[in-house]
This record gives sequence, structure tokens and C-alpha cells, in this order.
Amino acid sequence: MPKKALITGISGQDGSYLARFLLAKGYDVVGSSRGKGPASSFPNLERLGIANQVAVESVSLADRQSVVQAVKKHAPDEIYNLAGQSSVGLSFEQPFETIESITVATLNLLEAIRVLQMPIRLFNAGSGDCFGNTGGKPADENTPFRPQSPYGAARAAAFWEVSSYREAYNIFACSGILFNHESPLRPDRFVTRKIVRTACRIAKGSPEKLNLGNIDVQRDWGWAPEYVEAMWLMLQQQAPEDYIIATGETHPLEDFVQAVFASLNLDWQEHVNQNPDLLRPTDVLISRANPAKAANKLNWKAKYMMPDVADMLVQAELKLIS
Ligand code: NDP
Repeated sequence: MPKKALITGISGQDGSYLARFLLAKGYDVVGSSRGKGPASSFPNLERLGIANQVAVESVSLADRQSVVQAVKKHAPDEIYNLAGQSSVGLSFEQPFETIESITVATLNLLEAIRVLQMPIRLFNAGSGDCFGNTGGKPADENTPFRPQSPYGAARAAAFWEVSSYREAYNIFACSGILFNHESPLRPDRFVTRKIVRTACRIAKGSPEKLNLGNIDVQRDWGWAPEYVEAMWLMLQQQAPEDYIIATGETHPLEDFVQAVFASLNLDWQEHVNQNPDLLRPTDVLISRANPAKAANKLNWKAKYMMPDVADMLVQAELKLIS
């Protein structure tokens, strides 16, 4: 019998790549979405050419009954919890939706597994934003959380839900504390996508400027398709544990901008405006990760670092608009 996986948020960046990854491993894949309609109506699944190989079910993850019904109906071996409002910036404008779609939804999945008493393994998408500012020190699995946004707070609460259900009810549940990872499937509201799209339009002759907020922030940027393998590996271990998933390299946003424009043979300084209206109420200044545990125990290491990611995003965007 093939293994069955339920992916919440299958329409998103990671959900789509994970679905492709699991299908290639022979899994039956079913996904959940807030939307209705066949998988073919989800552009990321279409783009990866897998829309006709997965089933997508409309589930309201903030509604406990809806979650219990979906888990009971599909009886998956593994659940990957990738749904939720995923933008830090937007979480300041939509704090309630952020908490509901992350913290309440994760609790509902854990409750469903507990109440149904099924031997389901759960992966939960955690976030490097749980750490807040670490004073430039690399965060590892023992670094305390000090989130600085509704998004980080929602993810931190969900992390502790997973941890306490694992301990209290012996559920195989774990969180991957994911640092930023990008791909051509990233939605437009994310700064990396905005930078790449605008730079490509400028390279094609558009006279516009690229407006950015704080370009001094520093982040760890990886390549999404390889992060989904780490999620799967976490559920194949003997014991459920939490892992930092990151490249281990941190770069200022300015360097990312420079790398993108350089890929297009442009000087970024001629095309970028800094706009104070785009500053967030608070921001993590330096996000730095130590992914050594994932390397040692999962044998997982990011192959693509920020300059590769910037270049691959530019090449994909040029293909899309040509
Ligand atoms: P996406 O935003 O691409 O996908 C998340 C999916 O969740 C969406 O496709 C959407 O599916 C669903 N969703 C969005 N908003 C809501 C909402 N308000 N309520 C309920 N569901 C919602 O995220 P990624 O694929 O990039 O990330 C996957 C998970 O990993 C996310 O939970 C994210 O927070 C987390 N993460 C991602 C990082 C990254 O760098 N990409 C870093 C750290 C953590 P639909 O509309 O079909 O319901």
C-alpha cells in the first residue's frame, strides 16, 4: 500500500513542491485549501504539472469539526501542516486571521490526531521569525523565542502546541523551524518576488523605480524545493524532534538586491528608492541560523545559497515574461 499524505496549504509554494516530491516517492497525496474547486484551479499545482495527480479538499482549518472530519475521511499516514497566513508584514494588518490560521489550525490538527487516536505523523511549519532579534547570534534548537510580530507570535504558540502534544500524548509531531526559502512560486506580496519581478521589468525597458523599505535587514535565504525534503526527512526518523532548516548563511537585503540586478547586468543603485512608508512597525534586523542538527541527524544540507537563489529566481522570471 502506498503511504498517504495530507498537505494543508497545498496550493502554496511549499505545499506544491512537497506534493511533487511526495508523488515522486510514490505517495498518495491529498491537500486541503480554503478554496473550492478542482486541483486544476490551483496555479502552482498546474505549473508543476501535478494538478491531475492530487486531490484537493476544501477544509476550514480553524473549525475543529471540519478538521476532524477531513483527517478521519482520509486517514493519512503523514500530515504536513503548511497552511496559514504566511506574511510577517501582513500579520500586522491581519493579526486575528494570522493567529486563527496558524495557532488555532495547528491545535485543531493535533486535537484531531489525539481524539481519533490514529498513528499519524505530523510535520508543522515553524519559523525563524519565532526568535526575533538574537543580537546577530545564530539561533539553534535551544535558542529562546522572542517573536516581534503577530506572525512570529502565532508560529511560536503553534510550536509549543506541537511540543506539548508530543510530550503529553506521545504523538509523533515535530516542527521544522524554517528560515526564509524562495522560489518562482512565491506569492507577489513577498519582497524577494517584488525585487525580482521589478528588476526584470526594468531590464526589459520599464522606466519604473523599485521602492523598498529597510534594505539593511539581514536574512538567511534558501531554495524552497530542497526545504520540502527536510520536512519529509523529519517524519522518517525514529523519534519526533524539532529542527532548524536553513542555509546557515546570512546576507543583507541590499546584497540580495545587488545580486538580482547584477544577474541582469544592471547597477541596482540606479534603480532603487528607499521608501519610509514601507517600513514595518518592528522588524527583525538580523536573522541568523545554525542548521547543524539537521546536517548531523537528517543528513540534510542546503545546496543553494543566496546568490544561487537570486540568479535562479531571475532566470525563472525572465522565462515567464519572455
Ligand atoms: P504560502 O503563503 O505560499 O502558502 C500557504 C497556504 O496557506 C496558502 O496557499 C493558502 O492556501 C493557505 N493560507 C494562506 N492564508 C491563509 C489564511 N489566512 N488562512 C488559512 N489558510 C491560509 O506559504 P509557503 O508555502 O511559503 O510556506 C508554507 C508554510 O511555511 C507557511 O505556513 C509559512 O508560514 C511557513 N514558513 C514559510 C517560510 C518561507 O520562507 N516560505 C519560512 C518560515 C515558515 P489556500 O488559499 O489554498 O487555502
